[in-house]
Amino acid sequence: MEEIQLKAYGKINLGLDVIRKRPDGYHDLDMIMQTVGIYDDIIIKKTHTFGEIKVETDTEVLSNGKDNLAYMAVKTLFDEFDIHQGVKIHINKRIPIAGGMAGGSADCAATLIGINQMFELGLDTEALMKHGVKLGADVPYCVMGGTAIARGIGDVLTPLPAPPQCHVVIAKPPISVSTAYVYGRIRLEQIEKRPDIEGIAQSIRDGALKKMASLLYNVMEEVTVSEYPVIQKIEKILLEEGALNAIMSGSGPTVFGLFDDKEKAEKAVRTLEDKGLSQQLYLTGFVN
Ligand code: ATP
Repeated sequence: MEEIQLKAYGKINLGLDVIRKRPDGYHDLDMIMQTVGIYDDIIIKKTHTFGEIKVETDTEVLSNGKDNLAYMAVKTLFDEFDIHQGVKIHINKRIPIAGGMAGGSADCAATLIGINQMFELGLDTEALMKHGVKLGADVPYCVMGGTAIARGIGDVLTPLPAPPQCHVVIAKPPISVSTAYVYGRIRLEQIEKRPDIEGIAQSIRDGALKKMASLLYNVMEEVTVSEYPVIQKIEKILLEEGALNAIMSGSGPTVFGLFDDKEKAEKAVRTLEDKGLSQQLYLTGFVN
């Protein structure tokens, strides 16, 4: 195989709770992860430059170097299996960068999967997830995809059935919020409202879309909403346009709204476009 193309899907969090700070500096989380239909294209090609791992992307804001998670994915498997083939990886980004949709982890996971296939390494999903967690807490989930409860640092996964399909409007406001900033500012002892993670999981098992939507909640919004009013503005518009509910994904700032009516979802996209509140705007669905 000389070339392989993969889709690296982004995720949203239907629920996100931060439980505690661990002695190692990471946080224990309790989350519901859901893959959505926004993906980066990952194209991996063999080259004839011995030992060279090259990454290029269609965006200037992303590193092409050794700190690109796709590079790290190749390097970790090449080191493990003593492979010295040259490869070039091209990434077309669609997942908002630093948006709370695990785009970097998705690219990393897709690259692990692609290299495993291309070089016939024979790794199963579990083995790929084990390699993935060394590169990022969300990578094991991205290898698996679909719907899951994620605990620990995000790497202790319990798969769930697919929730009922709906229309998902995703809007990334034109601001940058780093994950480190949000974790640095969250005051765990002051959190008054927390998501009912088990309730969300049960509503998914029951196929109860409206119940599930009513329980969406992300504790990280306590930090971001007060600092970045645009997040709440987008949520308000989504709700006014008929979303069942709307919250921020991950550490933000991307916001999503769930709709059971396609026309309402399309109108919400037009309204957000007209108001110029988002830099990237998508209408998609769940992927399982
Ligand atoms: P999460 O939801 O896991 O917190 P995120 O969606 O907020 O992640 P990402 O887009 O995954 O953020 O990127 C976080 C950082 O990772 C970026 O600022 C970037 O420097 C780095 N990074 C490395 N490789 C990639 C990649 N292939 N795509 C995106 N970001 C990457």
